[in-house]
Amino acid sequence: PAPTVPAVEPQSPPAVPATVPATVAAPLVPTCDGGLVEYANFDHGASTPALVSVVAAVEKATATYSSVHRGQGWASQVSSHYYEAARDEVARFVGARDGDEVVFTRNTTDSFNLLAKALPRRTQVIVFASEHHATLLPWEERRTTRLPVPLTHRDAEALLRDALKRSTSSSTLVVLSGASNVTGEYWAVERLAALARGRGARVALDAAQLVGHRRVDLDTLGVDYVAFSGHKIYAPYGTGVLVGRADWLDKATPYLAGGGATAAVGPLSTTWKTGPARHEGGTPNVLGAIAVAAACAAIRENRSAIESHEQRLTSRLVGGLRAIEGVETFSIFGDDADRAPVVAFTVDGVPSPLVSAALSAEYGIGVRDGKFCAHLLVDALLSDEDAEVTTAVRVSAGLATTDEHVERLLGAVASLAANGT
Ligand code: PLP
Repeated sequence: PAPTVPAVEPQSPPAVPATVPATVAAPLVPTCDGGLVEYANFDHGASTPALVSVVAAVEKATATYSSVHRGQGWASQVSSHYYEAARDEVARFVGARDGDEVVFTRNTTDSFNLLAKALPRRTQVIVFASEHHATLLPWEERRTTRLPVPLTHRDAEALLRDALKRSTSSSTLVVLSGASNVTGEYWAVERLAALARGRGARVALDAAQLVGHRRVDLDTLGVDYVAFSGHKIYAPYGTGVLVGRADWLDKATPYLAGGGATAAVGPLSTTWKTGPARHEGGTPNVLGAIAVAAACAAIRENRSAIESHEQRLTSRLVGGLRAIEGVETFSIFGDDADRAPVVAFTVDGVPSPLVSAALSAEYGIGVRDGKFCAHLLVDALLSDEDAEVTTAVRVSAGLATTDEHVERLLGAVASLAANGT
């Protein structure tokens, strides 16, 4: 007899107490003194190591692997089931409402490019210059108001209020970040979104640096769209999501025209599907979607443990870096008590590329230096510095970070600040 398709797993609370979900083991890496040391990954803000539960979910799905939404065979039905169950988990993770759609994309950049193409003609887009390029640039073919980097949360509200007042378009989209990928600071999304809604505008939230650290609920935040990437929440590269209001998406030209997106194809005309399939032409990245959903479930079920782990690391990291003479850390709002575990800094007299090269070669610590795809923000943050300082170092912690990693990093930075490289 044909095996039956597994039922959707019941969405019940976890039976075990919340814990920090385990990531795959950190590798041992060589250092320039000829030794080996456990890799201390301080680049979670770029991409995160996979969760053990994500790897297991992908392995399980790989065992029954066939076409999705294209076949009647048992394996096709199982793969289609897993794909749609992944969509349901993502919807639950961000509190999708009736009338919202979950579209699987390649990453946050892809999600915003999709949304940019789906906007009604003449939509006015309002965005802060401080955004990551994924959030700043997709709207360039649209009427866009670029607001300056704000100095405080109040300033951000005043700038947005003013821009909304001046917008004469009948359709306005405000694009905001939940957390800065440079300073880790949380934006006052609820307040800014309320201002936008009060003027009839829609809001799109870049949650790439937020969903791994804080709960995102579309209704509570008052936003219309949310985008994030799997590779920043402990799933592999190549899958992101756009969740939000179906109406614009269902009317838009398909983002990826092709098989799976069509309801009917005639010699002279094509009828496109509505719903997520409209924008997911071609065979989708099913394993990627399953991985993202497994990561969402692990984060959702262990939120409180994750938050306390990260709060402890963040306060030691920020406090420790600030206490080192010759180190300057950066902040947009000047009130950064509440932030994700992401800190950008410079070391007096040591160029940022040298800091990150030395941290890697001498201490087995992975960080990033540069402008972090947020050139206008980093330029603004560094404007008071020595004109020769044009880039910063960013450390970003996460679930794979241990207290030993933090102490190793602080000791290494202190030594570089004191002695140079
Ligand atoms: N938004 C923020 C705040 C980010 O930090 C990033 C990635 O660094 C992105 C968007 C873009 O993400 P992706 O490269 O996965 O498209």
